[in-house]
Amino acid sequence: MATGARVVLLGPPGAGKGTQAKLLQEKFAACQISTGDILRKAVAEQTPLGKEAAQYIDRGALVPDDVIVELVAGRLKDKDCAPGFILDGFPRTIPQAESLDRILQRMTLSLNRVLSMQVPRSVIIERLSGRRSCKNCGGLFHVIFSPPAKEGVCDRCGGELYQRQDDEEDTVANRLDVYEKQTAPLANYYRERNLLREIDGVGTVDEIRARVIEALGDLVA
Ligand code: AMP
Repeated sequence: MATGARVVLLGPPGAGKGTQAKLLQEKFAACQISTGDILRKAVAEQTPLGKEAAQYIDRGALVPDDVIVELVAGRLKDKDCAPGFILDGFPRTIPQAESLDRILQRMTLSLNRVLSMQVPRSVIIERLSGRRSCKNCGGLFHVIFSPPAKEGVCDRCGGELYQRQDDEEDTVANRLDVYEKQTAPLANYYRERNLLREIDGVGTVDEIRARVIEALGDLVA
């Protein structure tokens, strides 16, 4: 079996998956696959995928499984994913998890860890309401917990920061319900396969990063 990190980050919106995935990508020389980022880019570029996805994203619903699975299957074949991959926001349903198993099997690969980031609802609401994303590079900030040096401007690339429309209060409530119903059952799916590790997702970015690294430390190439 190939070496490298083949990891899924599981957790509700605002759990810190995107922030940690970006950090892990560097540490493990792996690719980060954020289905949310890919879809938002498609929406901004008004591609056929983006036009279809926007109807679901805007109301906090999930994009159909077949659309997402095809997108991830294609991305996993890219060269930068050969050393390993960090999946952030995928899989989100049991059928997606089953499809992922089949895709990896065809590539003679398998997952080697799933981290479930545990964060209470009150903390999630606080994080999402202050979250700001870079339009250009997807960099993540928070107006209180990790503000950019210059308000509204990305520290990494100078791009413009914005608040995601689906981070607004009504849509957040719907996204959390969708998570409980459709995505939370994945914890059991992966527990039964001995892949699951639970991480306390409350704390500073550095504190959470330390816990994540501890749970993945043995996978460092
Ligand atoms: P995220 O950035 O991961 O919170 O995703 C934002 C939105 O994109 C979600 O609320 C869904 O509408 C859509 N999305 C992202 N990943 C998936 C997925 N794996 N399955 C279905 N929809 C997804």
